[in-house]
Amino acid sequence: MLSSSTSTLRLHQPTRPHRRHPPAPAAGGATHLGPSRRWRGHPPAAPLRARPQRIRALDAAQPFDYETRAAGLLEERQRLKIAIVGFGNFGQFLARTFARQGHTLLAHSRTDHSALAATLGASFFTDPHDLCECHPDVVLLATSILSAEAVLRSLPVHRLRRNTLFVDVLSVKEFPRNLLLSSLPPDFDVICTHPMFGPESARDGWDGLPFVFDKVRVGDCPARRARAEAFLNIFEREGCRMVEMSCAEHDAHAAETQFLTHTVGRMLAMLELQSTPINTKGYETLLRLVDNTCSDSFDLYNGLFMYNKNSTELLNRLEWAMDSVKKKLFDGLHDVLRKQLFEGSAQPPSTSNVRK
Ligand code: NAP
Repeated sequence: MLSSSTSTLRLHQPTRPHRRHPPAPAAGGATHLGPSRRWRGHPPAAPLRARPQRIRALDAAQPFDYETRAAGLLEERQRLKIAIVGFGNFGQFLARTFARQGHTLLAHSRTDHSALAATLGASFFTDPHDLCECHPDVVLLATSILSAEAVLRSLPVHRLRRNTLFVDVLSVKEFPRNLLLSSLPPDFDVICTHPMFGPESARDGWDGLPFVFDKVRVGDCPARRARAEAFLNIFEREGCRMVEMSCAEHDAHAAETQFLTHTVGRMLAMLELQSTPINTKGYETLLRLVDNTCSDSFDLYNGLFMYNKNSTELLNRLEWAMDSVKKKLFDGLHDVLRKQLFEGSAQPPSTSNVRK
């Protein structure tokens, strides 16, 4: 207990030392808790060996709720003003958790979602100028992949604070990375992220689900680093598996993990599969895959194809794989047919033979 309170004390000392001490003496006189009063009457040059003991005594005199207050202060510093741009399916889904964690939320979208925003305690802005003038700490780009460039260009970024943090959650990563770096002023921080889950797959919480991020550009000063960490901490606190990787590496993996999954889900949907009285576990997995993938917009799926250069190759491989499996089946069938045709070995038994 003692050691934990000591470490918390050290953690906060450099930034807000005044919080750790009793109030300073009022002008013109010392309070009963003031350091000058406390030391009154002692010899001015106390022996050096005595000093550490006195400092320990000061530590022991911390108010009884010191730890609670310190934790509250830390919590306060972690709180962010987040502007969500693109307040659709996924933007709203993220907003619910941000709101629960106590962050201040602003939102902007093409459609007026002000009624829904109000239910989350978020302020909705139809005009992006008004949103930017609120000086959010973080602007979170959660618009569709296809509209991201136009939406970003429509934002009056000159109205934001000079070193605002921009974060995107697009399901492809190299495209927004290049877009943000080329469109934003060099003073802005940029983190590209991809929560690898959605409203369907994370219905029961985010615990254990992968969250990919790339700190593309975070200014080298404590406040900017702390802001970046505070943002990432939102996902860490929910139990996400934090995966730091480059945007290029993400896209190479995501072609398989995501585009393949969505493609198979959409192909199965074309078959209009129905639940039956004899569903196997495997079949139920297929039905769930259809639900998980087809509840996302076609724009999202199209974006995975258009804006990930690895997707075309994946589609070709999928086609090749289907052909290979079919070929194996038909080759086997041809073998049987050839045997029947050329060796006559598969003649159906005659009825007289059966009787005998
Ligand atoms: P989405 O269809 O990809 O995006 C919908 C959002 O984009 C809405 O806010 C919509 O505005 C906006 N939008 C679409 N076309 C627009 C246009 N022409 N001009 C301006 N805004 C436009 O669906 P989503 O599921 O909400 O995904 C949002 C982002 O999160 C995407 O980049 C997606 O890749 C990413 N993401 C989604 C998931 C998921 O599971 N859904 C998971 C991880 C990442 P309105 O509000 O006006 O409709």
